[in-house]
Amino acid sequence: MKEKKSFSIKFSLEDGYSPDRTPTRRMLSDMKGMYADTKAFESILEKEDPCVYEFYELGIPEKSSDLAFGTTIINPGKVGNEYFMTKGHFHKKLETAEVYYCIKGHGYLLMEHFKGKAEIQEMTPGISVYVPPKFAHRSINISKSEPFIMFFVFRADAGHDYKTIETKGFRKIIVEKNGNPEIINNPKRGE
Ligand code: MN
Repeated sequence: MKEKKSFSIKFSLEDGYSPDRTPTRRMLSDMKGMYADTKAFESILEKEDPCVYEFYELGIPEKSSDLAFGTTIINPGKVGNEYFMTKGHFHKKLETAEVYYCIKGHGYLLMEHFKGKAEIQEMTPGISVYVPPKFAHRSINISKSEPFIMFFVFRADAGHDYKTIETKGFRKIIVEKNGNPEIINNPKRGE
């Protein structure tokens, strides 16, 4: 087997971007059905299609001996009263964990065990969060004006299952109420 070479890559502590690579962008139109307020979703898209978040995929081989890593940058914004967030996913290999480290901004890491238990961690610069195996995870920017920037690492063969979340959604959603974030039950789950 060919041995791998080491490499280095810069991710800016100011804005999370790498000068060497192009991030993958998720626009609001990529997130149909993921926000509770469907009317608000459609009315934003009538005017514009904002970029909700970006993240890096470095093309690391999808092997259990490898680690995938990069940054995620979530823009500030809301759909109705629900904050901009990532789609969220389970790993296809459910037994694989992930680590996030907040570089800048203010957000939440929302997690949900495949059997239903929700957990949430608040993130500010310097805080790292361990996402245990078998938990879906989603990042949410609760700042009014600043991007929420995190570095992540996970087993490179973990794979992404977006479908389960696209269909059911998370049990909890994060909305702004009287200017502050509030964790509420997802009305779509009818619980
Ligand atoms: Mn993940």
